[in-house]
Parts: sequence; structure tokens; C-alpha cells
Amino acid sequence: MEPLNRPAVIVADMLVDFITGALANPPSQGIVAPLATLLAGARSRGWPVCYVNDAHLPGDTEERLWGAHAMAGTPGAQVIPELAPQPGDVQFAKRWYSGFHETGLDMYLRQHGVDTVILTGQHAHICVQHTAGEAFISGYRVVLATDCISAFTPADQAAGIAYMEQMYGAESAVVADLLQSSAANVA
Ligand code: ZN
Repeated sequence: MEPLNRPAVIVADMLVDFITGALANPPSQGIVAPLATLLAGARSRGWPVCYVNDAHLPGDTEERLWGAHAMAGTPGAQVIPELAPQPGDVQFAKRWYSGFHETGLDMYLRQHGVDTVILTGQHAHICVQHTAGEAFISGYRVVLATDCISAFTPADQAAGIAYMEQMYGAESAVVADLLQSSAANVA
């Protein structure tokens, strides 16, 4: 993989409702530890850490498919404590699958000179995929931290990642390789 220039880590929907709540996804427990490692490494390197969190309002389109989940202002819409945002991290509320759609994420990334998004969270074939698509058409290099991305089933996981690689030129890597590619900014 080419060296990372100016990446940001995007964390999609690591929320209480998506881990243990209304849309509980047991496989997502397995990405918490590697994601925590990636976030710590990102912060030590000065990479922006951006959470894109469902914060639904009653009547949102997705309710028809998924029922009520991650309703704005409820405990279920909070990032899980193990991955709680730290000072300097930013959170964007979203009401659709994409982390870019009407969230302000794109402007934030541009303000901070970001040219690469490292995508994490869930689900590989839904919110991560839609976020990757909008990142691609917006001109960002798309990197998938594959050990930090989850889906409901292994088939969904594989299909989502394959689609992003084929259609958006997404590059897949594991956390250890991503952090190895860039030294920490430690004094
Ligand atoms: Zn949703």
C-alpha cells in the first residue's frame, strides 16, 4: 500500500443500539478491541477521528426497513463506552446510511486537509459502503480497516468489502499495517 498522506479515521455507528440494543449485532463486539487500538494510534499521529453516528428522528426513511433505532438523544444513540470519543475527536449526526449525507463531514475533512478516509465500524454493506461511495465521488482515497469493520453475517461482510474494492478502488488493510505505515508523533 502507498504511504498514507493525510488520513482521518471514520467510525460508523459503534453505538449502543448497534452493539447490544435495538439492532444488536453480536459480531461487532469483535471489532471493538482493534478499533480502540486504531483510534489510539490515530490520535497519537494527529489523524482526525470522526464518528458518524445515527441520530434518527421519528419518521426517518430507514424506520420503514429497520424499525426505530438510534433515536436522537437516547442512550441507544450513544457511542459505546469502550470507544468513547476523546478530546479532539468529532462526532457527526446522520439520518441516512452515508456518513457524508447532510452531516458536514466533507467540509470538516477539507478544513483539516484530509485526503484519505480510513473507514471503520458497521455495517460493511450498508453504512460503511454508502460512506465509501460518497467518499469516492468526493475525491478521497478510501482505505478499509478490515479488522475494524463488521456486518450481520460473514457473507454481508465479504460482499460489502468486495463491492467497495471493485467500485471505489478501496484499499483493504489491517490495523497493524496501517499504524506501521506511519510513525507516531511522539516526542
Ligand atoms: Zn439508521
